[in-house]
Amino acid sequence: MVVTAPIPRPGILDIAAYVPGESKAGGGLPPVKLSSNETPLGPSPAAIAAFKAAAGELERYPDGQATQLREAIARRYGLDARRIVCGSGSDELLGLLARGYLGPGDEAIYTAHGFLVYRIAILTNGATPVVAPERGLKTDVDAILAAVTPRTRVVFIANPNNPTGTYISIEEVRRLRAGLRGDILLVLDAAYSEYVSKNDYEAGLELVATTSNTVMTRTFSKIYGLAALRIGWAYCPPEIADVLNRIRGPFNLSAPAIASGAAAIEDIAHLERAKLHNDKWLPWVESELKKLGLVVTPSVANFVLFHFDGVKGKTASEADEFLKSQGIILRKVGAYGFPNALRMTIGSESDNKRVIDALARYLKGAA
Ligand code: PMP
Repeated sequence: MVVTAPIPRPGILDIAAYVPGESKAGGGLPPVKLSSNETPLGPSPAAIAAFKAAAGELERYPDGQATQLREAIARRYGLDARRIVCGSGSDELLGLLARGYLGPGDEAIYTAHGFLVYRIAILTNGATPVVAPERGLKTDVDAILAAVTPRTRVVFIANPNNPTGTYISIEEVRRLRAGLRGDILLVLDAAYSEYVSKNDYEAGLELVATTSNTVMTRTFSKIYGLAALRIGWAYCPPEIADVLNRIRGPFNLSAPAIASGAAAIEDIAHLERAKLHNDKWLPWVESELKKLGLVVTPSVANFVLFHFDGVKGKTASEADEFLKSQGIILRKVGAYGFPNALRMTIGSESDNKRVIDALARYLKGAA
């Protein structure tokens, strides 16, 4: 047979491309977009001002070390700026960690309903994904430890996890670290950590600071409201920061991203407003969904997963279609192993109420 096209590396065609939350809906009403865990409060005004100021010098390359941003993050959390590596979203950092530490023959573990980018990153590097079962839709430390083999090189956990919104305590994270061999890299994906408690993510950063094999990834896409700019960061042991700096793109953050991120992280009042908003509306949304007879997975993040199992004659797909016809976009989570559930981001008061109202109409059969 004559081969007429380049053949990708083994494993590449096993990758299912990541399907982001939809950004458009049909229907005449203005779209309510609650599909990507973005904040209804938007970014800090200081970040917008910094973005505009950075637009004055678009012909210049950005600072390849993102120094201003790393130093702002280091000041904010009392960290060592040399151990911070920034990325074009935390997605890029997850990919770089896989590229640096995984290859053919290696295994990497993630949890049954873990974030799908881990699988993509593992397969991209020719390594083998190993899926650890969860307990009650929560990360199960014992199941992860039981899945370890001599070939395990990396463990990824999201805490809180997406799309379940579930969380394990810092004590459990420490128990996981203590149970893993020292040569296994533990990646703590803390994209939603600001929604939980400050003590826990600070303890996570402390764990990184005191071990040689644990990394925490963070993002500006969620509570900071800067998803469009693609800004993530990783706190790493020095050797791991060195690896990431060798393999990342030389200018992987744009100048507007660097400036806006640095301004955003200093606006603590804005962060607190976003957290308070979530603290108020997450319980409201959860309780309204339950009143409608839906099964809710208790969440600590800025989104909630709810299930249609047991709701006679109604399905998540049909509900999703109805919501779309009303200008409402939630997230289908079939790719995460939940064919009959939807994930809803906590939105503004009016958006939350519109979703609950539309779901009530769908469930009453008025659809
Ligand atoms: N980790 C988790 C658990 C996420 O849900 C997301 C966003 N969907 C990310 C990482 C990546 O976020 P970003 O690349 O925007 O930083």
